[in-house]
Amino acid sequence: MSAQPELPAILSFEDARHTVEQHAAQVTPVSKESVELLESYQRVLAIPVDADRDFPPFRRAARDGYAVLARDLAHLPARLEVVGEIRAGAPVDQIPNISSGQAAAIMTGAAAPQGADAVVMVEYTSLRGKQVTITKGISAGDNIVAIGSEAKRGDRLLSAGLRLDQAAIAVAASVGQERLLVYERPRVAVLATGDEIVDIGIQPGPTQIRNSNTYSLAAQILGAGGEPVLLPTAPDEAERLRELITDGLEADLLLLAGGVSAGKYDLVEQVLTQVGAEFFFTGAQIQPGKPIVFGRVGEKYFFGLPGNPVSTMVTFELFVHPLLDALAGTAPQKLVLLRARLNSEIRTKLGLKRFLPANLSGEFEDAQVQLVRWEGSGDIVSTARANCYIVIPPNRDHIPVGEWVPVLMR
Ligand code: AMP
Ligand code: MG
Repeated sequence: MSAQPELPAILSFEDARHTVEQHAAQVTPVSKESVELLESYQRVLAIPVDADRDFPPFRRAARDGYAVLARDLAHLPARLEVVGEIRAGAPVDQIPNISSGQAAAIMTGAAAPQGADAVVMVEYTSLRGKQVTITKGISAGDNIVAIGSEAKRGDRLLSAGLRLDQAAIAVAASVGQERLLVYERPRVAVLATGDEIVDIGIQPGPTQIRNSNTYSLAAQILGAGGEPVLLPTAPDEAERLRELITDGLEADLLLLAGGVSAGKYDLVEQVLTQVGAEFFFTGAQIQPGKPIVFGRVGEKYFFGLPGNPVSTMVTFELFVHPLLDALAGTAPQKLVLLRARLNSEIRTKLGLKRFLPANLSGEFEDAQVQLVRWEGSGDIVSTARANCYIVIPPNRDHIPVGEWVPVLMR
């Protein structure tokens, strides 16, 4: 074995994020399982879904109105003889053919009749007895969706690796998939550390703190499609910490919280080194969350998240999420920031990229945002009153009211 590896430098936020994304691109997801269609919502598709028929399977009327021959409307108003009515789902043998001078009343979703090449919206027509008067011209093809124009039988509609949203569920339903093969949820071990941390069922002593990180992380893991595995809290003592890290490495991913700062009893990196960890970074130029650690023991990735509760939460979002996506079988979503107008000026220090708890308000195109007052990265109470983070680049120490600032949604 080589000597203890030299720990890599602290990276910029972007480099740290890209480092995680590069590792995520190499990850193979866990195994697959078959689930009922609705249970697949927000899971990751493990096999492609192909079209079992043309979309649409017949010439579909896109409007309520009259099926006509477009050239019959060359002179307006046009008067046509109504030869029938076509409801959605009407069997083929009940659909009349149309010849020049004729029209059929038709409903949205019905099959356009032979002979007709357009549907005139009912708004431009008036019916008297069996005769319809049409006051607006139309082009061939208007308001009729051609067979197979959305997809042809056999076309790939959904690819493996897709996170199933409502539109994907609609597609799967449309091809009759009552069940889908999805990837299993990655198991993510959560290991809180710290002598001062007590379980939430225990009355804390005057200098003790209840364990909140295990629960916020578990919530984030659930939200990201993982399955949290909660380990007992580790004391700031190498032997027990090592045992629990070994347990945690049984999962698909290990998250540690706390013990990664520069304090005398911050033992996480030391113990990880003892169990053979390689480190990809040991810090990022961000606030909160600067001491974030990312590495691997054998095939298993781990993150050492800073213990301050807001740091833990923010670094999960910034760094853990993409790797968890990959373990779940989907390409990591790029981190996309929205913009909102700053309501109240910001003064801060240069040098770190900041993700500060904030409140998004306003409406429609007028998104507004302002920082919540907080006491720093230990202030979970203020953070719970926030609904997003304002992102401040490292080269800005003052941002005036009215500027459109980047916002990370929570
Ligand atoms: P550390 O990263 O271990 O230096 O911890 C930084 C701060 O976060 C300290 O004030 C800890 O008490 C607090 N902290 C660490 N772990 C937790 C936890 N699991 N739940 C709540 N607070 C924590
Ligand atoms: Mg600690």
